[in-house]
Amino acid sequence: MILAGISITILLQNEVHSQVLQNTLKRLDRSFKNFYNGFGYPRFQGRNRYNSFTYPQFGFSIEDGKLNLSKIGNIKIILHREIEGKIKTCTIKKDIDQWYVSFSCEIEKPVIPVEIKTETGIDVGLSSLITMSNGGQIEPPECLRKKEKKLIQEQKRLSRKKKQSGKRNKQRIIVAKVHRKIRNQRSDFAHKTSRKLVDSFDRIVFEDLQITNMMQNHHLAKSISDAGWYQLMCFTKSKAEYAGKVVELVNARNTSQNCSKCGNSVPKDLSKRVHSCPFCGLVLDRDHNAAINILNRSNSTVGTTGINARQGLLNRGSMQRDAQSSSGFG
Ligand SMILES: [Zn+2]
Repeated sequence: MILAGISITILLQNEVHSQVLQNTLKRLDRSFKNFYNGFGYPRFQGRNRYNSFTYPQFGFSIEDGKLNLSKIGNIKIILHREIEGKIKTCTIKKDIDQWYVSFSCEIEKPVIPVEIKTETGIDVGLSSLITMSNGGQIEPPECLRKKEKKLIQEQKRLSRKKKQSGKRNKQRIIVAKVHRKIRNQRSDFAHKTSRKLVDSFDRIVFEDLQITNMMQNHHLAKSISDAGWYQLMCFTKSKAEYAGKVVELVNARNTSQNCSKCGNSVPKDLSKRVHSCPFCGLVLDRDHNAAINILNRSNSTVGTTGINARQGLLNRGSMQRDAQSSSGFG
């Protein structure tokens, strides 16, 4: 069964569960709503583009490791983890030559906020993925770099193939598979890193970087997409919420320029990797200095001023040392 946009859906409607049709209409409705809100006209979703369909609430069930889909039948599935809570929707997705099913579930789990004892600021830099305010760094895995080189090669090959040819189509699939590999490796890395962060710290502070602003900067764009920092932040946030911990976003302005010890401005361009303060003599890795500033900024958003703020900073110093000793990585 192929579900390709509205026109074909209507031809097939006897073979498709009513709830799936409803969801297709919902998607179309959403794209028209976006259009009226000033986004582009909904694009035609060709056979190759529309690659998933959703059962909201009914039309599916799981029994003995098999997924029963109304109007389709029993399909053997491999569960990657136990299903928790009450299943709300079931989405079937085709990814080139593989099929996936994802369930969205409602979990009623009271989240008890933990007492904040450890915390860290996170700087998203150019040279390494992230730097923590305790000085630890986490680099993206080498395999990602290798795959990215391969992607460039395969894309060049694709551009040399004749349009509409069978060879071009074959190459298109090869490129899509490399893309999938990179996507999976990135998300795997983001999952593992966010898990480590949430296990090690009760409060995690990120810079609030505007992704659209950053994508316009060509030099930064590559490194951002490489690092997938946005994905990392989202994963960390959801894991933290689940664990009763806190993720905060703070203004990123001048975090790399100001001195984290005395607060004076020490201007430096991107090539300068070391922060060396002429006012107080602090010498630190550029990103490490920024990560401490990010953490300190979260303190100022609480609203402490004057002497209290100073006291807060002193306390923070001892908390950071705790964080340093308790974090088993970086
Ligand atoms: Zn200084």
